Amino acid sequence: MTAEDTGPRFVIIGAGMAGLMCSVKLLEAGLSNFIVYEKADRLGGTWRENTYPGIACDVPSHLYSYSFAPNPEWSHVFSAGDEICAYLESVANRYGVDKYVVYGAEVSRLEFDHGRWRIELADGRRDEADFVIAATGVLHHPNYPAFEGLDDFAGAVFHSARWDHTVPIAGQRVGVIGTGSSAVQIVSAVASTVGDLRLFQRTAQWIMSVPNPPIDEETRQTYRSDPSVMNKVREGLSSRFEELSNAVVDADSPRMQLIEELCRANLEENVADPDLREKLRPDYRAACKRLVMSPTFYQAIQHPNSTVVTEAIMRIEPAGVRTEDGQLHELDVLVLATGFRVDRFLRPIEVTGRGGVRLDDVWSERPSAYLSVSIPEFPNLFLLNGPNGPVGNFSLIDVAELEFGYVMQLVDLVRSGVCREVCAFREATDRFEADRIEAAQRTIWATGCRSWYLDDRGVPAAWPWGFDRFRRAMSRPTLADFQLVT
Ligand code: NAP
Repeated sequence: MTAEDTGPRFVIIGAGMAGLMCSVKLLEAGLSNFIVYEKADRLGGTWRENTYPGIACDVPSHLYSYSFAPNPEWSHVFSAGDEICAYLESVANRYGVDKYVVYGAEVSRLEFDHGRWRIELADGRRDEADFVIAATGVLHHPNYPAFEGLDDFAGAVFHSARWDHTVPIAGQRVGVIGTGSSAVQIVSAVASTVGDLRLFQRTAQWIMSVPNPPIDEETRQTYRSDPSVMNKVREGLSSRFEELSNAVVDADSPRMQLIEELCRANLEENVADPDLREKLRPDYRAACKRLVMSPTFYQAIQHPNSTVVTEAIMRIEPAGVRTEDGQLHELDVLVLATGFRVDRFLRPIEVTGRGGVRLDDVWSERPSAYLSVSIPEFPNLFLLNGPNGPVGNFSLIDVAELEFGYVMQLVDLVRSGVCREVCAFREATDRFEADRIEAAQRTIWATGCRSWYLDDRGVPAAWPWGFDRFRRAMSRPTLADFQLVT
């Protein structure tokens, strides 16, 4: 035990990108009395779970890096998932946070009791903490479609986030259900190696063609020897992403129109067959769904092995997928690239706050949190990448770092004796929600499409303002919005 171990105790849930960042920053602040509970046996979060062929991040790697750990070794502008996972592992090693992570430790209950959080793990282990930071991710719980007969399929079937690498796909008849970012990357990666590829498309997607060139050794050497060059690259990317983020929150902005034109031109210029082009043409505005970026999808879907199936799926049979037109698409492998249940956040953990208030009841309609970070009546519990935050076309690493800086200012109120408990007032949370919902109507996400951004009322469940506003909001808490219990 070090001297600091007598300081406040933190429990962090999840050893993904955000949980690791918290650990590094707590150590940096001299706060080593913490533990990270990770239910899996490896760190990496989304990058550990998603291992499907073709996986990469569509935020440029030099932006999708911790601000405190720039990485001169990125191999591509948009590097692959295993490289991102290796980066997270190397950061964990370099900063010595590995030893704070307990693997195979699934948190099942959190209860606020007499000013402290009591933590229970699924295997019965118990712990206590002054602060809990939930870094449990957004796109974490796979959405399994309820097709009749799915369990009867005779071949291999798995979700894109649970790729079964024991199943060979080379030369096989492979079906992919879904046309989101995951499906687009899978199709691009496997079209030329499988025997037959059926893409079951319920809704066409706009695709922006963004090239992904390798970063050559000479450039990497420059980054190694002069990190300021790399930092300038990051700054440039950051301001370009800010422009993109400002465009999508204003459906009428000229930049949004430019994005739409680029997507339209990509379709017109790169899909040769007019029938296929019409099948692939969405009937809603580009970026209404999360914008899909791929330089290779149209090429892959025009490969002789590939077929786009637009007939609705009737049922799954042992031999394959039966569509409404009566056709049976015979398959060996079926990939469910059907997205995630994005309203779960830290659930299914049972969370009980002050006075026995249950999170399941508070969130019975839909999840919400003040500035996506704090929940009324759940003091000293903070969420990173929580509900209604900036999930749309931002680097979630930047988001998590800003949120952590904000959370630590709240933690410091307790550490310095200003209060013992801190959480947002209900009234402040309701006001934030009302403003957010009003602004959300002007975003591109509200222009008429089905997407994972929309909550059960059809309201975009995301930060509806520009990134500059988020940065400002995270720079300093408005203390009048917080209930400080002394
Ligand atoms: P997604 O965008 O939610 O796409 C799910 C797809 O499955 C949609 O095409 C949806 O059709 C379809 N689907 C769901 N249920 C269905 C059903 N019952 N029948 C037929 N089709 C069904 O999921 P995702 O592709 O996994 O991507 C989720 C998010 O993860 C992305 O938006 C992105 O934020 C992130 N991501 C990023 C990257 C990257 O960085 N490159 C890669 C992967 C994922 P409808 O469109 O008709 O609803």
